[in-house]
Amino acid sequence: METLKRAEGIIFHFDKNNKPVKRVKAGTTIEIETFDCFENQIGSEDTEIAGIDWNRVNPATGPVFIEGAEPGDILKVRIEKLEIGNQGVMVVGPDLGVMGHRIEQMEAKIIPIRDGKALFNEYELPLNPMIGVIGVAPVGEAVNCGTPGSHGGNMDNKMVTEGATLYFPVYTQGALFGLGDFHAAMGDGEVSVSGIEIEGRATVTLDVLKQKKLQHPMLENEEVVTQIVSAPTLDEAVRTATEEMVDRIVENSNLTVSEATMLMSAAGQAEICQVVDPLITARFVVRKSLLNQLGATLIG
Ligand code: CA
Ligand code: ZN
Repeated sequence: METLKRAEGIIFHFDKNNKPVKRVKAGTTIEIETFDCFENQIGSEDTEIAGIDWNRVNPATGPVFIEGAEPGDILKVRIEKLEIGNQGVMVVGPDLGVMGHRIEQMEAKIIPIRDGKALFNEYELPLNPMIGVIGVAPVGEAVNCGTPGSHGGNMDNKMVTEGATLYFPVYTQGALFGLGDFHAAMGDGEVSVSGIEIEGRATVTLDVLKQKKLQHPMLENEEVVTQIVSAPTLDEAVRTATEEMVDRIVENSNLTVSEATMLMSAAGQAEICQVVDPLITARFVVRKSLLNQLGATLIG
């Protein structure tokens, strides 16, 4: 198996002009090591938070050049394994996240990870390890790793976890894949602007689907297929995710737009990924058991 250490290369922007730090063949499985979203700058609660280098947040390890990936293709990324460190950190601060107008100073809290739980003060929280930042180089200008988009990026979607497969539109030769910003746990919305931020390692298999149409990232796991959309408002993100899912179902089944809309209203889920990043990310989720009845394979 290939490996990529974080010391070999991190990026703070997804950018078609980035120099790849690794080249792999399609179908390669690679273990990628990551910093936490503060590039591990907050080691304790005594760290002067305002004094950390805020130009060095949300590093993604990479980029990885996947041979044969060309504009118009899809990059398929299966998350085989996700491992996290033994200490996480959370922050709040003025004007950050949903509660920022009520918070007067930056604060950090160290969250030890022990025996499969996160320790928040004396309270035990279940883990849901996930990847916050994952994606490819965007079509136009560089996008900083703190912002999500049709290229992926900082989607902060808690379904991006072990066993999930992601699909990204490829915009540039080699796709230029990267990932980082793991969370030991995060709730839908990521309301404080931080999950339990933590370093880790992800083992992913990178594959190329030739000339397949995709506007925004998709994700599937054993149970569901989802459409992920980031937009300036939650309304727009939900609307676009829903519409793309309905279109995909119509293309892949015998249903009309009206029927597919009714079906999604009865059995599809419009869900929030995050509301803080600064674009908002939503996902529209459909169970595979329903898609199997329709005979519809939406992606893959
Ligand atoms: Ca994030
Ligand atoms: Zn994060």
